[in-house]
Amino acid sequence: MRRRVIDTTEEMLEVISRCDVCYVSMVTPEGLPYVVPMNFGFSDGVLILHGAREGMKMNILAKNPNVCIAFSTDHELRYQHEQVACSWSMKYRSVLLSGKVEMIHDFDEKVSALNIIMRKYAGRDFTYSPPAVREVQPFKITGFKLTGRAYGV
Ligand SMILES: Cc1cc2nc3c(=O)[nH]c(=O)nc-3n(C[C@H](O)[C@H](O)[C@H](O)COP(=O)(O)OP(=O)(O)OC[C@H]3O[C@@H](n4cnc5c(N)ncnc54)[C@H](O)[C@@H]3O)c2cc1C
Repeated sequence: MRRRVIDTTEEMLEVISRCDVCYVSMVTPEGLPYVVPMNFGFSDGVLILHGAREGMKMNILAKNPNVCIAFSTDHELRYQHEQVACSWSMKYRSVLLSGKVEMIHDFDEKVSALNIIMRKYAGRDFTYSPPAVREVQPFKITGFKLTGRAYGV
């Protein structure tokens, strides 16, 4: 089974687009790892995430905006010999994205960011009440670094 580096941005973005969840890792002020699964949107080279304004991840990101985000798709369990444990494996394509989170505060930019996420999952834009927009905290990552690996795909 072939293991390979994904070396084109095009394929790495395709892997990202096939995922419905990503895993956002960060580092607490105490230097401990913290990771949360999150939904996301992607448009024009910008990754968009969103969450409540309060909570552990927002407290961490306020102190250290560096994140590393894992995406993984095309999973397929396989084996060469069912009785041989070491011959079992999983096909996959995965991408790691590293960069710095920037909070989005402008009202119109928040709405655009939320619609990037909604377009991914619902396939269309929505309108939002001002209180709903005030309560939510979208954030973006631009200028990130991508690496990709694939196994059997
Ligand atoms: C498929 C999926 C998609 C999600 N999409 C989003 C999203 O787009 N935006 C968003 O804000 N959240 C999303 N969540 C929830 C997210 O994973 C966090 O639980 C949530 O954001 C709260 O994080 P927090 O740091 O504010 O936790 P807090 O409410 O501050 O709680 C912190 C405590 O809860 C524990 N904890 C927090 N989250 C989890 C978790 N997921 N599993 C187990 N323990 C946890 C921590 O270890 C810590 O002890 C999603 C979860 C899943 C499974």
